[in-house]
Amino acid sequence: MHKSSMIRKYRLYLLVIIMIAIAVTAFMLVKELNHVTEKRAEAYADLHSRELATLFSSYLSRDITLAQNTAASAQIKAWLKDEFNQEVKSQALDTLSVFNQSSKDQKMFVAFDTSSNVYYFNTETALAKINIESRMSHDDYWYQEVIDSPHPYTLYLEREPLSTAVTLWINVKIIQNGAFLGVVGTGINMDNFNEDTAFFTNPETATALIIDASGDIKLDTDNGIKLTNMTLQHYVSNESFHERLANALNAPISNTVLSIENSVYSHAGISPIKGSNWSVISLIKGQAFYEMERYGLIFFYILTILLVLVIAIHISIHHIFIKPFDALINSLNQNSAAHSLTIYGLDRNDEFGQLAASIEALSNRLVSSVPVGLFLLNDKGDLIYGNDYFVKQFGLNTTGEMVTFYGKNLHDIFSDSADYTQFSNYIKNQLALGVMEAKLKRIDQQVFWAEIHLTQTDRDGFSGFEGILLNIQLKKEYESELINQATVDPLTQLYNRRYFDETVKKEINRSTRHHHPLSMILFDLDHFKTINDTFGHIVGDEILSNITDVASNCLRETDTIARWGGEEFSILLPETDLQGAYHVAEKIRQAIMTYKHPTVTRITASFGIAQYRMDESYITWFERVDRYLYYAKENGRNQIYGLNRDYKSIDQLIQLKWHDSFSSGNTIIDEQHKELFKIANSIISNTMKINSESANRHAIKAFFEFVKKHFEDEEYILRDVGYPEEDLLKHKKDHDALLSKIKSKCSKENLTHSEVMQIAMMLIQEVVYEHMIQEDAKYFDYTRKTTDLPD
Ligand code: GH3
Ligand code: MG
Ligand code: MG
Repeated sequence: MHKSSMIRKYRLYLLVIIMIAIAVTAFMLVKELNHVTEKRAEAYADLHSRELATLFSSYLSRDITLAQNTAASAQIKAWLKDEFNQEVKSQALDTLSVFNQSSKDQKMFVAFDTSSNVYYFNTETALAKINIESRMSHDDYWYQEVIDSPHPYTLYLEREPLSTAVTLWINVKIIQNGAFLGVVGTGINMDNFNEDTAFFTNPETATALIIDASGDIKLDTDNGIKLTNMTLQHYVSNESFHERLANALNAPISNTVLSIENSVYSHAGISPIKGSNWSVISLIKGQAFYEMERYGLIFFYILTILLVLVIAIHISIHHIFIKPFDALINSLNQNSAAHSLTIYGLDRNDEFGQLAASIEALSNRLVSSVPVGLFLLNDKGDLIYGNDYFVKQFGLNTTGEMVTFYGKNLHDIFSDSADYTQFSNYIKNQLALGVMEAKLKRIDQQVFWAEIHLTQTDRDGFSGFEGILLNIQLKKEYESELINQATVDPLTQLYNRRYFDETVKKEINRSTRHHHPLSMILFDLDHFKTINDTFGHIVGDEILSNITDVASNCLRETDTIARWGGEEFSILLPETDLQGAYHVAEKIRQAIMTYKHPTVTRITASFGIAQYRMDESYITWFERVDRYLYYAKENGRNQIYGLNRDYKSIDQLIQLKWHDSFSSGNTIIDEQHKELFKIANSIISNTMKINSESANRHAIKAFFEFVKKHFEDEEYILRDVGYPEEDLLKHKKDHDALLSKIKSKCSKENLTHSEVMQIAMMLIQEVVYEHMIQEDAKYFDYTRKTTDLPD
């Protein structure tokens, strides 16, 4: 039924539109027809008057010449002088006869002499004399006109007595030596003219008049040619027309068309007749061009076109609008259309109301079915709407329940009150857009991660916040799983090296800022390869995992332990100095020793420790720790390196490394030099250890004995290779000085740790660097030369 009302409404509109269209079209058509008629009448008036004038002129021009020639002939003149002389008369007759022959349709010639006699010439009577003296004084005023006229000829129209025939007379004055002799005239029978003009003159459409220069009618060609004693006023009464006509007649000779108001005639064409001061005036009835049958036909066409148009519009509206509209409503309604027709301020019981209701129902379904929480807060931040998904996240069913359980301001949905502060700040500060992640609480106290978007809105009459809530619990779980995978070692569940590096960098920054101590322990299980080889990898793994727990138990919450790789572990100790680090390391070392494994009886580890020094890079720091771990391994394992007895860092002493440039070329000397490096290195590494004094005492003694022997051997070899005596003596002196210095230093029975350190430093500095590397190098030329010689 909605469809029919639709169509009905449009039909009415259509009808109105069509009526207006018809009215406008008719109006335009009439206007156009008037215009065309006007133009046509105007053109017709012009053409008509021209044609008539031309025709009339052609009649005239021929006969004027004839008359003039006659008037000029000597015979005629002679006769008029001597009217009664038969001889002269006969000659004049001959001449007239000749002229008469040349024109067939003229009526006759007339000669008029001074004696007031008129002579008509015709073939039967030859020359008949009519004495019209009595008429002359009354009717034949044309004679007076001829005499008075300044023109060489005058025109005169005459109706035949007892008939309707009209003759146009052309009267030419005959003058000899200035004396007026008479008149010669030729009469044109206007019957022929009438026949000729019938073609142009349709009395229903036009009236053609011949007028003279003052506008008096000479001839009326309407309804057959006739003389008329009517004035132009009889045909057209419009005054302004008469004025304009008078102007046109006075103007230089040309064709003119005048329009006429308030008259049966709409236009007057005026054309001068050549050879006279007469004009043709053609009065055209504009109305005659309206042909009502044609109007009817045109209206019929228009109506047909309109009808087709209406049908086309009707069909188009149906196909383009009504059909899809019905289909839309039906499809919307299929999903349980809304029952209320009140929506968005529309309360209509028609198709628009239905459509609006269907759209509302659809949008409600969409809003409640999207897997996104949508909610609205007023500008105070109070909850005024939450879609299904939103309320379900909290274990509830409606917005009302939300408000009942959590309160309007949503404070209680946040698990962490700091999150609520951030949330309410968005509202307080009326931020355009706020995005945050927060832990939210369901009514069953279960906590989930959510992402909240708040958009400030002030449109469509609503001022407040539009909110979006996304449940990102799963995303968070995946995230932490990924972070875990990236940072935690699966076997020991300790952080990996990457995480450790990150932590170290952060702690270095903190330590630098606050000038707090920061230390590191690096430890490695001893002979783990053997454990693996003996008991198998599974046992190895088990031990690694257990040792992890053992070590972790010795640490504080703030310490970070990581599996650096294999069976090597690193520990970062914030707020801990070197001494503290030593204690931690010692605690772990003891704990590992006391750890009992069912099958593996002895498990130990070696440790390197170092405190971070300001401005040191992470790499340098780590290298130090790593080096101490190496020394600990080198010097017997199950011990801690990196701290001396005075709880000072020991790393200013570095191990000596042999380099090819130290080679003298002599095998014995080089062997002994290398041995000296070895002994010096063992002294150096001993000094990095607590309780190493006795070991060093032995090492220093051995060093002294070895140096003594080496110096002797060297001096012998130098003499042998031909080292100059003078240089040799100087070198020997150096040897002796060094020996006595070492002897005096080492003679003391109980050396303190720092005395051992000093001796070690002296050995390295004076014996190795200054003597061996610098002094000895002087003889290398000799020793190298000798060995280079072929056998
Ligand atoms: P040192 O006292 O010099 O450290 O001797 P070591 O045998 O412990 O040293 P080395 O570096 O030569 O060998 C380390 C061994 O640790 C080799 C490798 O098989 C073992 N290892 C490293 N990671 C694991 C692991 O995850 N599980 C097991 N079972 N063994 C491992
Ligand atoms: Mg190792
Ligand atoms: Mg090891």
